Amino acid sequence: MKLNVGVIGGDGIGPEVVAEAKKVLDCIGARYGHTFLYDEILMGGCSIDATGEPLTDEAIAAAKASDAVLMGSIGGNTSTSPWYQLPPEKRPEAGLLKLRKSLNLFANLRPAYLYKELREACPLREDIIGDGFDMMIMRELTGGLYFGERKTEEVDGVVTATDTLTYSEEEIRRIAIRGFDIAMKRRKKVTSVDKANVLDSSRLWRKVVEEVAADYPEVTYEHMLVDNCAMQLVKDPKQFDVILTENMFGDILSDEASMVTGSIGMLSSASLNETKFGLYEPSGGSAPDIAGKGIANPIATILSAAMMLRYSFDLDQEADAIEQAVQKVLEDGYRTIDIMPTEDKRATVTQVGTKEMGDLICERIQ
Ligand code: NAD
Repeated sequence: MKLNVGVIGGDGIGPEVVAEAKKVLDCIGARYGHTFLYDEILMGGCSIDATGEPLTDEAIAAAKASDAVLMGSIGGNTSTSPWYQLPPEKRPEAGLLKLRKSLNLFANLRPAYLYKELREACPLREDIIGDGFDMMIMRELTGGLYFGERKTEEVDGVVTATDTLTYSEEEIRRIAIRGFDIAMKRRKKVTSVDKANVLDSSRLWRKVVEEVAADYPEVTYEHMLVDNCAMQLVKDPKQFDVILTENMFGDILSDEASMVTGSIGMLSSASLNETKFGLYEPSGGSAPDIAGKGIANPIATILSAAMMLRYSFDLDQEADAIEQAVQKVLEDGYRTIDIMPTEDKRATVTQVGTKEMGDLICERIQ
């Protein structure tokens, strides 16, 4: 296959980690007979420096013209960078929000997977971790409370703030379909999370999810209240496969789920629209504190590239090959600084930098 990948290196460690993901994709291309054509797109602080805007219309057009976009991260040190002296709509993050909106990326996927080699980074008890866990948080990204009407006004002399939580059947249906489709590629279980004992929007959510579930007889599904889900994530995370939920619940639960896996440097993510198109990026930020030092962990970005192969290009075997290579490199004892074990266990592993980690993963692609 010939695949056009828009590439947003961005700021800070972004270009460093994206370079390693491209290296791994090229390795996959050579091994499996695909050609990846990269179109470099400016966004974030580097775009502000070059054009005065965090995201230009040309950059949006270039992203739309590609089959999928692989991104590093954007932004700088929010206390010291001159980018944060600009008005909010001119700052780096405004570029990302504009891109997500322009591309209608309504489905956000964040896997939370615990590698057995990184068990000690997990804050949960050994008996709870058991054989580890592997779940996918599927969060609605363009509706709900964060996009509803809001206002702050004085009512009878008292300042009162209002946010509205609105979901249409269509918005729920399209994310539910995505959730069940993804469950079909995994262990075929969906936990739909809502607050149907209180909220109308959640009752509609539940009804539509049930309608969608009827089209997926192979997938088992259940409903869970969000407060219970927050507890279950730390009590028994093994029970989850796909967690399907609305915007604000997903925002909170995905951070909780990622926390139990350990390092931010390991966490990939994808944002999808109605087509096969997606934006793939590590969950972490641009880490200005370590930028340019060659020590950033590229694995989250490499795993994001694997998600791109799986969800935008249906190249499951190739995605498996990357995930297995990452697994192997950890088994072989290689670690970047952020996933180094505690002092007493350091002798058992080898610390490597960003480029070396990319090379070691390439060597293990089968
Ligand atoms: P951050 O995720 O960049 O960094 C938090 C901590 O994690 C830092 O100590 C950093 O060194 C470490 N870290 C992050 N990624 C790492 C990696 N791959 N390898 C090793 N260590 C890693 O969060 P922050 O410091 O709050 O934000 C820095 C900038 O990133 C801000 O401008 C913020 O707005 C931006 N940001 C961008 C995105 C995005 O592009 N999607 C997401 C979050 C934050």
